[in-house]
Order: sequence, then C-alpha cells, then structure tokens
Amino acid sequence: MPKIRIKVDEDLCIGAASCVTITPETFQLNEDNKAYVLDKGQEPGGRTFERWVEVTEDEKDTIILSAQSCPTLAVFIFDEEGNQLFPDM
Ligand code: SF4
Repeated sequence: MPKIRIKVDEDLCIGAASCVTITPETFQLNEDNKAYVLDKGQEPGGRTFERWVEVTEDEKDTIILSAQSCPTLAVFIFDEEGNQLFPDM
C-alpha cells in the first residue's frame, strides 16, 4: 500500500472540522480546536500534526477530498517521493 504524509498547519487551522467530518479516522480536533492527524483512528506515538499513513488508493482519495474541504487549506498531503499532492503546486 502506498504511504502518504499528512500534515496540518496548526497556524492555518481554524477548527472548522470539515476534515473531521469527512475522515474522522484521520483527523480529530484537540483541546485547542486544532486538527491533529491519526493513523486509522489510532494515535501511535501520541498526538501529532504530521504523520506518515499507509493507505489504499480509495483512502488516499478520501483524505485528499478531506484536505480540499478545509476552508483555510491547512492540510498538506505528500507522496512517498516528497511530492506535494495537495494543495496543487
Ligand atoms: S478543515 Fe481545516 S480548519 Fe477545519 S479542522 Fe480541518 S484542518 Fe482545521
């Protein structure tokens, strides 16, 4: 399965929670209303704003959709080669 790196810019995140609504297994809000990144609902290594996650193609598409839903474009997605998949460069 491909791996992607998911990163939330906590300074850009305004806690709108669209990402949480679409992919709650990948994003949850912390006590400061900032979205942190989970690995299929788990938090190995603790809460973090940036994480490598193994995904199916379908899961990858849904996570990108989730990033697209963010009103402040606070979610960044990279592939294994380090290319930014979203937002489009
Ligand atoms: S959609 Fe964007 S602003 Fe809203 S919680 Fe997620 S990352 Fe933060």
